[in-house]
Amino acid sequence: MFEQENVFNQEMKLDLPNHISIHVKREDLLHPEVSGNKFRKLKYNIAKAKALGCTQVLTFGGAYSNHIAATAAAGRILRIPTVGVIRGEELIHVYKQNPTLAKAEQDGMQFKFVTRTAYREKSNAEFLATLQQEFDNAYIVPEGGTNDEAVLGTMEILKEYDKRFTHICVAVGTGGTIAGIINSSTVDQTILGFPALKGSFLSDDIDKFAIKSNWKLIHDYHFGGYAKYNDELISLIQKIEVETGILFDPIYTGKMMYGVLDLISKGYFPAESKILVIHTGGLQGWNDVILKK
Ligand SMILES: *Cc1c(COP(=O)(O)O)cnc(C)c1O
Repeated sequence: MFEQENVFNQEMKLDLPNHISIHVKREDLLHPEVSGNKFRKLKYNIAKAKALGCTQVLTFGGAYSNHIAATAAAGRILRIPTVGVIRGEELIHVYKQNPTLAKAEQDGMQFKFVTRTAYREKSNAEFLATLQQEFDNAYIVPEGGTNDEAVLGTMEILKEYDKRFTHICVAVGTGGTIAGIINSSTVDQTILGFPALKGSFLSDDIDKFAIKSNWKLIHDYHFGGYAKYNDELISLIQKIEVETGILFDPIYTGKMMYGVLDLISKGYFPAESKILVIHTGGLQGWNDVILKK
């Protein structure tokens, strides 16, 4: 699964001012089920789990988590059992109606539903030790999949031929993807991150993994926070799909695209800027929108 790399950059044929161009790195096409950056982040984690002789992979996520969906599918394909520690005890009765969790279960993932309070302890050593006891010989991947192995994977997103871009734009959740991109960028490129959640704690998380400082977070386009969106965002995503044939997701990449286009219209980018936006995938996130309609 991890051998294939059918990714390319696609120019967005949009009417942009000041000779600015946007290309999209189609990481969403990496794999039909283990999409985009989650594929990158799992690659070296699963390799390490197997090398260590671990017999299952355990990770964390909310009810619509792309990371949970990707881990479950990767586990099925690579024949390693998976466990999802899921935020929200109440889901135990209704999770079969949640498309992300229903598919993860079909992929063989075993669930442990925990209260929101318990979930907050997800990186606490004591909680991890009890999980390690409960789930024998498990390899634990943190929420969102971000750790050293993940960053090794996300460093493979940028290629030699991407050095020609002046700006690289990416959606940010836990920061592992932007960290890898920063690490494999050149110092004269500017990396702009668009957090999909509220809060400024992210910078510290990115600094933990990033070896350069040519980056900046733009906090103005989270649309109220994680998994929140409005009609304006949805109609922009639809308009982009009609004009370019590229579908972005409403949780991460759509917000980034909204931000990039808004910043262009406000004159943020210098003339002749060559922008590369990373389509990190996550199209299964549309399940959430459809469900809430
Ligand atoms: C998870 C995810 C992100 C965020 O990645 P981080 O490495 O956690 O910052 C961005 N885009 C999509 C589509 C995702 O699924």
